[in-house]
Amino acid sequence: MAPGISERIASVAESATMAITAKAKALRARGEPVIGFGAGEPDFPTPDHIVEAAIEACRDPRMHKYSPAAGLPELREAIAATTTANTGLACEASNVVVTPGGKGAVYAVFQVLLDPGDEVLLQAPYWVTYPEAATLAGATSVVVPTTLEAGYKVTVDQLEAARTERTKLLVFVSPSNPTGAVYTADEMAEIGRWAAERGVWVMTDEIYEHLVFGGTRFASMPVVAPEIADRCVVVNGVAKTFAMTGWRVGWLIGPAEVAGAAARLQSHSTSNVANVSQKAALAAITGPMDPVWAMRDAFDRRRRIAYRMLGEIPGVEVIEPQGAFYAFPSVEGQLGGDGPSTSMDLAAALLDDAKVALVPGEAFGAPGYVRLSFALADADLEEGLNRWRAWAAGR
Ligand code: PMP
Repeated sequence: MAPGISERIASVAESATMAITAKAKALRARGEPVIGFGAGEPDFPTPDHIVEAAIEACRDPRMHKYSPAAGLPELREAIAATTTANTGLACEASNVVVTPGGKGAVYAVFQVLLDPGDEVLLQAPYWVTYPEAATLAGATSVVVPTTLEAGYKVTVDQLEAARTERTKLLVFVSPSNPTGAVYTADEMAEIGRWAAERGVWVMTDEIYEHLVFGGTRFASMPVVAPEIADRCVVVNGVAKTFAMTGWRVGWLIGPAEVAGAAARLQSHSTSNVANVSQKAALAAITGPMDPVWAMRDAFDRRRRIAYRMLGEIPGVEVIEPQGAFYAFPSVEGQLGGDGPSTSMDLAAALLDDAKVALVPGEAFGAPGYVRLSFALADADLEEGLNRWRAWAAGR
């Protein structure tokens, strides 16, 4: 262990998705023609009207000062109102805390709800931050695996089998990073009712709320299972919907005591999220949605390209992603023999040989799989998948 570093932090792994993105960027900076499928962010700039609102906020001296730790009152109000309008969840500004990104909301929820020794139910493949944020709260992650065959969805029976006396929190995310799976309202309601019956809290991550494709419909757990509403915290943010990953604005919506506790935590840790970013977020959620739908159409087109082309690569098995901007194929058929023996080795070989950057499933608790983001230009997407197919055929 590095000298001086606390055990708590030493036990936390670096974000593997960020690591592969950084490696791909470094190779590109050296002039290598790398195609990066690692990014967890839209490749579009933030829409103009949002940027304009931020510029205006910069010129307002009131925005140069500290503001309430829980967020600008007008933003909290607008988050409550748009959430009610979009998902049907009844909530007020007092239920909302503005956080430094959705990641900040996840961190706050875990700090506020979890004590050392508590167990967190996580389905794998999971987003890399959940287990690490649980560790930072002193809690233990209990991982419930899902499979491609099951559409990467967990059942109540699996959750019940993993539950113990110490189970405090279920982490739920739909649409999912990394799998692109979206639960139906009925599937979600069953899980919500189970959690309510068992006295388990739920954190439901709705950051990909607007990114659902084809006939798929988004549903919100505390709406479809109102029984869980008083033990449920919703996480959301502007990053994915409005191409605003760098602005760092997210939020949590929960029972007033949970929101109050999260605001207390922030009052001593991060204080207010940058006011200019909050004003930009306000313009985003109250403004026109056409730019969002245009981005969604582009993701949908790429999703169909990715699904079709992945299906043509020997040794790759894929199901159609229904939400977010990720595909999560199995690569078991490319492992073994003279080739790479793990998905980690496969990702390394593809980056070295074909200059294609994928995130190995190991990062998400799912060895044997890889994650591809399709938030990249159509031509790059096609070129990258052609390279992978050529690489596989040449072995
Ligand atoms: N939840 C999920 C499922 C995510 O994929 C991400 C971003 N990768 C976040 C939360 C956090 O997003 P941000 O902190 O950028 O708002």
